[in-house]
Amino acid sequence: ARQFTRPLNDLANQFNTLLSAIAGAERVFDILDEEKEKDSSSSMTVTDLNGEVRFKDVCFSYEQGDDKQTLEDMNFLALPGDTVALVGPTGAGKTTVINLISRFYDADQGEIYIDGKNINRISQDSLRSQMAFVLQDTFLFKGTILDNIRYGRMNASDEEVIEAAKLANADSFISKLPEQYHSLIQHDGNGISHGQKQLLAIARAMLADPKILILDEATSSIDTITELRIQEALSRLMKGRTTFVIAHRLNTIKMADQIIVLKDGKIIEKGTHKQLLEERGFYFDMQGQSETGVIAKPSY
Ligand code: ADP
Repeated sequence: ARQFTRPLNDLANQFNTLLSAIAGAERVFDILDEEKEKDSSSSMTVTDLNGEVRFKDVCFSYEQGDDKQTLEDMNFLALPGDTVALVGPTGAGKTTVINLISRFYDADQGEIYIDGKNINRISQDSLRSQMAFVLQDTFLFKGTILDNIRYGRMNASDEEVIEAAKLANADSFISKLPEQYHSLIQHDGNGISHGQKQLLAIARAMLADPKILILDEATSSIDTITELRIQEALSRLMKGRTTFVIAHRLNTIKMADQIIVLKDGKIIEKGTHKQLLEERGFYFDMQGQSETGVIAKPSY
């Protein structure tokens, strides 16, 4: 029953620390890679992925010997370009699914395939070069806006960075800064609003041009105009990419090709919004409790 005793903030922090590290700090990769590159002899490089993701009988626990598994017998297929919304109560396992797709952890049993290739045989570098993350908390480092966006693809030219910022709807706020793209960001982005950080994360992801996209929708309040900019930029970004979104907004969930409803580490329902409403199961009940459109509340 650990998931019910662990404070929500603690969970959120773990997730943010882990995944904002992915979004930015390659140093973290290096440390993890050192631990994991024992697979190097069998690992292959992937370049032109289509972005099909399949979980086959996947079981996982963070600690060996836990009597209850964190993920149990998980099966799903995400087709290239699909948007998959992960929904369910806090502690259900949504973040863990993301952790396995990005190979921060390996499944204990079962297999995860990307384009039919077992993820364990794909080198971590090449796997992550095919993924981008837009998370609640964006990792920014001390440097110019230009450099911070360029982190998405280190060899991008200034023109390419600016083009990505425009596609991400970040150009309008950047243009108003005293030194525009050359403005200096302090470590952790002091002086940049939460919503603006998200726009920078989207610009980075645009630049990275990945086949697989991981989104964690913001739950904290962002002003309406920035929120609209974010939503518009995200739908542009998601086009043609397989997207896994830890979804909090009803609109996002409604338009997903597939909603995966998790509870206690198990998939309890799977389908589109319409299908799941017709089933009148757990998802239907969650909807009933949601008047704000934020359905993944921690209280169920
Ligand atoms: P969600 O994203 O749906 O809120 P998580 O995937 O974060 O759920 O958590 C699923 C379960 O795994 C919870 O019980 C949580 O306490 C546990 N958990 C998450 N991260 C870790 C970790 N790094 N070590 C041990 N247990 C963890």
